[in-house]
Amino acid sequence: MAQFPSALDTVLSVLEQMRESERPPRASRDALSQLWSEQPSKEQLLAPLRERVCVCIRCPHLVSSRTQTVFGVGNADADLMFVGEAPGADEDAQGEPFVGRAGQLLTRIIETMGFTRTDVYIANVLKCRPDMPKGSFGNRAPTLTEMQTCLPYLVEQIGIIRPKVLVALGAVAVEGLLGIRSSMRELRGRWHVYNETPLMITYHPAYLLRNQAPSEKRKVWEDMLLVLERLERPISEKQRNYFL
Ligand code: URA
Repeated sequence: MAQFPSALDTVLSVLEQMRESERPPRASRDALSQLWSEQPSKEQLLAPLRERVCVCIRCPHLVSSRTQTVFGVGNADADLMFVGEAPGADEDAQGEPFVGRAGQLLTRIIETMGFTRTDVYIANVLKCRPDMPKGSFGNRAPTLTEMQTCLPYLVEQIGIIRPKVLVALGAVAVEGLLGIRSSMRELRGRWHVYNETPLMITYHPAYLLRNQAPSEKRKVWEDMLLVLERLERPISEKQRNYFL
């Protein structure tokens, strides 16, 4: 963050000059590009946040059960950001969100939209895997308290990335992000707003794995078509008619 004082100094000295000068304010191309080049990249801004998440001890029960924190993955400059609920066992082991079975389905959705995982950004409300009783299998949903405790990290992440569109995956992620509890039937398929960013809500890919009905998959795909339209991405005929 050593860049900030010098960028600030430049701004202050320009303002000072403007105050003292009788001529209308002008800035040279060099001065502007100097200011521009001193802006830290979004990736640079995410790095210290990642460090803080990495050593977070806000939920002692999760600190003792986690293998590692799962911060987020993808392009810090992404136009599109997906938000899930919490890492599962696979994500806890690999340190990356959405790498298990649900993650593979999410990757397929992303690729069918015409992106790669490295084009978009993927994160969860909770950065630690919710703990499970010893010897038990599977994953559990995060509690509201766990999500509220962790939410400030996601808020900062979104604030840095500033995607053009957010997609929340499932009712738990919605509850964590917006603090509202409602049925997916009510929530999905229409635009919401999160801090001025358009937010699409759709089913969590794990729901599609449990419920293989083509109609449910098509609903998710229709939500993604709305996202593509909002991003002004070209949509092929094949994409329009697609069923996941
Ligand atoms: N489910 C989620 O909500 N997030 C993950 O990272 C994996 C599964």
